[in-house]
Amino acid sequence: MTDSERLIELLTQSQYTTVLTGAGVSTESGIPDFRSPETGLWSKMDPMELFSRQVLELTPDVFWQRAEPLFREFASAQPNACHRALARLEQAGIIGGVVTQNIDGLHQMAGSKRVLEVHGHLRSGSCRKCCQQKSMEVLLEQVRKGESPPRCNCGGVFRPDVVLFGDPLPEEFEQAWQWVINSDLLLVVGSSLEVAPVCWLAERSRQLAIVNMAPTGYDYRADTVVQGQAGEVMQAIADHLCP
Ligand code: NAD
Repeated sequence: MTDSERLIELLTQSQYTTVLTGAGVSTESGIPDFRSPETGLWSKMDPMELFSRQVLELTPDVFWQRAEPLFREFASAQPNACHRALARLEQAGIIGGVVTQNIDGLHQMAGSKRVLEVHGHLRSGSCRKCCQQKSMEVLLEQVRKGESPPRCNCGGVFRPDVVLFGDPLPEEFEQAWQWVINSDLLLVVGSSLEVAPVCWLAERSRQLAIVNMAPTGYDYRADTVVQGQAGEVMQAIADHLCP
């Protein structure tokens, strides 16, 4: 039996499956991940500095000027074969929902309905003083026109509605924890599983399956590991299970 065939078997036997996705599901949409050698963001910059709460608080103009081109790149991306396959698997009742570390919104764009964004999203930003929300498109336009950092009418600085290094995790994480402990199977796709506390979800799963290009620190406890491109692997699985 191949690793993909074992994954099909696990998905078929599982009463309730949760999927956990990471930046690797969006590289085929042109968004770089963090840790892939040469192409990952980490090879060009220190994301911990770029996406840090401290930088936003101390030098909000620097934060927004660095973030603006990157956020625009995320906003112009389109879902790929993996996002579409996961949406089909949800529609067919084979998976219960997707917990994603991604902030790009591509699962919803592909048609997934049950999505928990445990690191937030780039659809909007909020004023740090009065919490008023504005669409990210409007905020990026303000920055492009030289208003950096973008400010609210109350004088407060806007921040993106994503989880920055140094931020607490949103309520969605609690919910993700519940989904995972109530699932028979956790399928991880495109994540190095190096970012805590999200990687701890992989420790709590009853059964674990991993689809990733590179090995992860949790392969040893997985029931199957499919090494390959997320788009190709997941499309083949969806074609088999929901033709
Ligand atoms: P990561 O960069 O740590 O790991 C990505 C993994 O995906 C790597 O192990 C890599 O080998 C694998 N991968 C890359 N392309 C793949 C493909 N086509 N098919 C299969 N596997 C592939 O990413 P992470 O584990 O998600 O953690 C990084 C953090 O960065 C997360 O918190 C995430 O929110 C954030 N991030 C998000 C985005 C996004 O929203 N698209 C992009 C970059 C980083």
